[in-house]
Amino acid sequence: MSSNEKAAILIIYTGGTIGMREDPVTKTLAPMKFGMLLDEIPELNKLGYSISSITFNPPIDSSNMTPAIWTQLAKTIQKNYSKFDGFVILHGTDTMSYTASALSYMFENLDKAIVMTGSQLPIGVLRTDGKENIITAVQIAAARKEGRSIVPEVCIYFDSQLFRGNRTTKKDSAQFSAFASHNYPPLAKAGVDIVYNFERINYPKNKGVLKINTTIDDRVIILKIFPGLNRHYFESILQFPDLRGVVLESYGSGNMPTSPWLIAAIKKATKRGLILMNVSQCPGGKVVMGHYETSIELQKAGVINGKDSTVEAAVTKLMFMLGQNLSHEETKYYLSNNLKGEIEL
Ligand code: ASP
Repeated sequence: MSSNEKAAILIIYTGGTIGMREDPVTKTLAPMKFGMLLDEIPELNKLGYSISSITFNPPIDSSNMTPAIWTQLAKTIQKNYSKFDGFVILHGTDTMSYTASALSYMFENLDKAIVMTGSQLPIGVLRTDGKENIITAVQIAAARKEGRSIVPEVCIYFDSQLFRGNRTTKKDSAQFSAFASHNYPPLAKAGVDIVYNFERINYPKNKGVLKINTTIDDRVIILKIFPGLNRHYFESILQFPDLRGVVLESYGSGNMPTSPWLIAAIKKATKRGLILMNVSQCPGGKVVMGHYETSIELQKAGVINGKDSTVEAAVTKLMFMLGQNLSHEETKYYLSNNLKGEIEL
């Protein structure tokens, strides 16, 4: 794009509260058509960009999000990659962090912004947060410096903050600030100006053609540890015949009870070839295996240290890596390492 050309932005509408309307009879919120949604934001035309849109059919509440739709999103972006300078995905907030994490792993050589956003109040409601979210998300998607995209990452823009997508978690269903990124600072803050945190943005090291890899293996589960966890349930879940991976949501810095039956069940599972990842149920901080005696046994059993990963980033990484058909050791290696800025080593 030359400096006097209009930035071309593609908005992909998947659904979510932003585009919902209240059914006059049932009073429930359901997604509406995208044309109607754009009619609610004439301000977008004032940005002076060339904005195109694609609506996924049917638009969904993001509680119905699936890996098949992640794939559809990645393919839509790949197909349109050369025609646009940046992409905005409108998505429900409930599973936005999962989609952002999954997409971050699926792209290789990404050098344009993919900004996800949505809202807590539908766009047609007077006090909606959706307008500011979309307008600024589009501006960020179009932002360039020295000929390159300022944020060539899969990110989430919400309530004045831009986050790396795979670092986010939905933290609130009532406030406009729906997302938090506990272990990584915002990539930008939008006040009077949009101030970018250039040092914390990942820029591609090599120039290359955009590639996507959308193979996902869904034979995984998240198991949250809690006092009173029933031995029989825990053991039988780990014995599911085709289960391949488990995210164990541990306490604090990665701790779990030292009950012999629990450790034995974990050891048996890893021996059987299951991949277990230890991620904390504490949103801030990281897993340090071996810090307390309550996590040494996990380390010995070959449980992977999920470090400061969110649960969303961990479970999607597990699904993605298991989909790659690598050897057991290679899968474990990549899971322990940083793929797309989702963990600090
Ligand atoms: N249930 C909605 C969704 O995730 C909530 C939202 O959009 O904020 O689609």
